[in-house]
Amino acid sequence: MDRPGGADERESLWERTRLFEQALGLEHPWYVEKADFDPKTRKLDLHLNFEAGGLFECGGCGGEGCKAYDTARRRWPHLNFFQHEAFLHAPVPRVKCPSCGIRRAQVPWARPRSGFTLLFEALVVTMAAQMPVRAVGRIVGEHDTRLWRIVKRHMDEARAAADHGGVEAVGRATTFARIRSGAAGPRSANWSPCMLRSTRSFGWRCRNCVT
Ligand SMILES: [Zn+2]
Repeated sequence: MDRPGGADERESLWERTRLFEQALGLEHPWYVEKADFDPKTRKLDLHLNFEAGGLFECGGCGGEGCKAYDTARRRWPHLNFFQHEAFLHAPVPRVKCPSCGIRRAQVPWARPRSGFTLLFEALVVTMAAQMPVRAVGRIVGEHDTRLWRIVKRHMDEARAAADHGGVEAVGRATTFARIRSGAAGPRSANWSPCMLRSTRSFGWRCRNCVT
């Protein structure tokens, strides 16, 4: 048997981290440095890092090819793996952007200023289309106030994407389903009722409006 830290263990560790990189869709310069799983606390911690000299996208203007200026460690709740909580940890670089100056770099797994990963947000938005946000909160183990922020941001983006001329007031609905059915939300001939359009940012397509 190979001793801990031997060639077999290193290879097994490399395979595991590669698997998580593929699952997260990470690309250069990002990689999974370490995957810590604690069965007692039912917690999975994925520690990400980036290759030295890697180039990043500016979080302000989206400009590419920016060098890291400094970093700050951050943590994001990710989708739970069955009953196990999962978190991503990473040093997020600030970049020196020629247009914006010093800005936080855009990371591929989360939106700027979001405390959740894109996958987590996608799950919340999808579930909120079918059930009350409070019920979604019970399932994903988050306070519904935090989830409402996600839902509201996607609703705002959907409204901004649609031609919403003439909409003066926007009501708060319990679920996207109520909005889609016309039971809540703005009433305007120009307003698209399909809130799921905003999920296009995840590369998904809505089956209702197919746009
Ligand atoms: Zn910029």
